[in-house]
Amino acid sequence: MIDLHLHTTASDGRLAPDALVARAAAAGLTVVSITDHDTTAGLPLAFEAARRCGIRLIAGIEITAVERGRDVHVLGYFFNPGSQTLAGFLAAQRADRVRRVAAIGSRLRELGYEIDITPLLDGARRQPARTIGRPQVADALVAAGHVADRTDAFDRLLGEGRPAYVARAGAPVVEVTSVIGAAGGIASLAHPGLLGMDADIPRLAREGLDALEVRHSDHDSSAESTYRQIAVTLGLAVSGGSDFHGDDPTHGGRLGDVTLEQADFEALEKRWRKGKGEREKGEGKREKG
Ligand code: AMP
Ligand code: FE
Ligand code: FE
Ligand code: ZN
Repeated sequence: MIDLHLHTTASDGRLAPDALVARAAAAGLTVVSITDHDTTAGLPLAFEAARRCGIRLIAGIEITAVERGRDVHVLGYFFNPGSQTLAGFLAAQRADRVRRVAAIGSRLRELGYEIDITPLLDGARRQPARTIGRPQVADALVAAGHVADRTDAFDRLLGEGRPAYVARAGAPVVEVTSVIGAAGGIASLAHPGLLGMDADIPRLAREGLDALEVRHSDHDSSAESTYRQIAVTLGLAVSGGSDFHGDDPTHGGRLGDVTLEQADFEALEKRWRKGKGEREKGEGKREKG
């Protein structure tokens, strides 16, 4: 069983990378990818754990791009985790997250939802490789007794169009796919069924998107067949996974529930190898010429 969409405590997941890998192996998964938001900090521990558990770990990431003022999540796979281009880009993404969380904290105070945002911001300064965002602000709202859970916090305050929503400054999808490509990886559009930007997918495919996340815990069978059809039409590969964030009943799937078929995974990997070959040829030419 294959799951290419998982989160750890390096971003907004509730399990540490090694604990998550152990849980995944116990659930019967054999190939997994950890796709934390805007950070690869969980990967070293996860690779070690995967070796111990005898399962395969694919380097992964979920990067937040901004397209026409809206957040668009882009998954990256098979890249070199040591890429300096990628590391620099992600550091800038995380810096904007810190700015945004501070702004959300001020907005909440103005609205009368007093929370202490300082521990969150101090934590981000102490551990700059880890990602903070609205889920951790939601946790602070829960702790202060203002909301019932993370979902309640998004629905009432933090979600797009809600009173404490603060826009992010970010790169368009084309820039994100190009950074992932420069790091030797391929890019997949995450959970298109949650995005409502179907009309943009052909353009994103022309601009360098490699795959579509057809399988996802928030896609029903009708969404799944829609996106599989779009992938076929546009010549995109298919990715998929649970988006497991730990045992949070309100958000993300459960381990082993939403998986990617072996044939889809093989086609995804093949597309990466092909792109890699072409990139290397291109680099060779540039070096010679
Ligand atoms: P941010 O990274 O700050 O933009 O926050 C977005 C993240 O919050 C998403 O990637 C989800 O993991 C999480 N999220 C979004 N909506 C909800 C929700 N309704 N309940 C819990 N978590 C959510
Ligand atoms: Fe998340
Ligand atoms: Fe996402
Ligand atoms: Zn995710």
